[in-house]
Amino acid sequence: SLFKKQDYLPSFLQHLYDKYLPLQEGKIYVSEPDLVEHDPNCFSICIVTVDGTVYTVGESEKPFLIQSISKVFAYGMALEDHGRDYILTKVEVEPTGDSYNSIIKVEENSKRPYNCMVNTGAIAMTSLIKGKSPAHKLNRLLKMYQRYVGHPVYVDTSAVVSEQNQGDRNWAISYLLRNFGMISGDIKQTLDLYLQQCSAIINCRDLAVMAATLANQGINPITDQSAINPEYVKDLLSVMFTCGMYDFAGEWCYKVGFPAKSGVGGGILGVVPGVMGIGVFSPPLDKRGNSIRGIKVCEELSQQFQLHIFQPL
Ligand code: GLN
Repeated sequence: SLFKKQDYLPSFLQHLYDKYLPLQEGKIYVSEPDLVEHDPNCFSICIVTVDGTVYTVGESEKPFLIQSISKVFAYGMALEDHGRDYILTKVEVEPTGDSYNSIIKVEENSKRPYNCMVNTGAIAMTSLIKGKSPAHKLNRLLKMYQRYVGHPVYVDTSAVVSEQNQGDRNWAISYLLRNFGMISGDIKQTLDLYLQQCSAIINCRDLAVMAATLANQGINPITDQSAINPEYVKDLLSVMFTCGMYDFAGEWCYKVGFPAKSGVGGGILGVVPGVMGIGVFSPPLDKRGNSIRGIKVCEELSQQFQLHIFQPL
């Protein structure tokens, strides 16, 4: 297992970096052409163990947008704000098999969105975050991110403004959700908060620390601070496991076999419970919106260190 092979980890990470850096495939997510910030060759892999040891290769300090990886943490906050029983009345835990921004299952199941790892369920979760005002809600989200990463986290306002103006699908999803009574209240406020939550700026090291916090029952292994009620960590990991990679979730479970969440910013967060958190950042995406190098790296880490949860011991 990993702990026996830990000495070998730095050279293996370097090997993965060298092997996949030349892989020139995929498209970078652009909400607006002028905002493309990322070099397709920016690449980093970070591992943080539950005892707080950090391994990193590549540009681990390069900032990028958390995007859909935020859905994991917003779900955690909704669970803490309302409790599991209530949240289960607001979102199911079924994979959709559809793309992350598909609207189709909202029309099909007019009771609840399928899961909170795709836009429909995620927008519903964001609508449930408590706070006295929009600013207060955002502040609570940012403070939660801070507990997970161990330092203050900020929002890229230009990314928010861009997605506000171009996100017709998210507007359509929100109106349809409200039409069926799956969300209530002000659509613009909910969508603004959702886009702010997606536009938080992190780096690959932060991503691995967030993952390690989930691997460590909600305690950040670097700061020892609690980021989430440990009771809900299993909820987050279960839904990540079955739904975290959009319409690649089944294949991911089969091949990689540990809970993970991707975002169109190019990040993948992977959790090996009780062992470590994995962060991979590389902006070029496949057609489903998952980082191409990120998938390769996680597949190889899983094989090399036998991280698949159904791996015979
Ligand atoms: N900003 C994106 C959206 O909601 C986040 C999606 C993602 O990372 N898949 O459209």
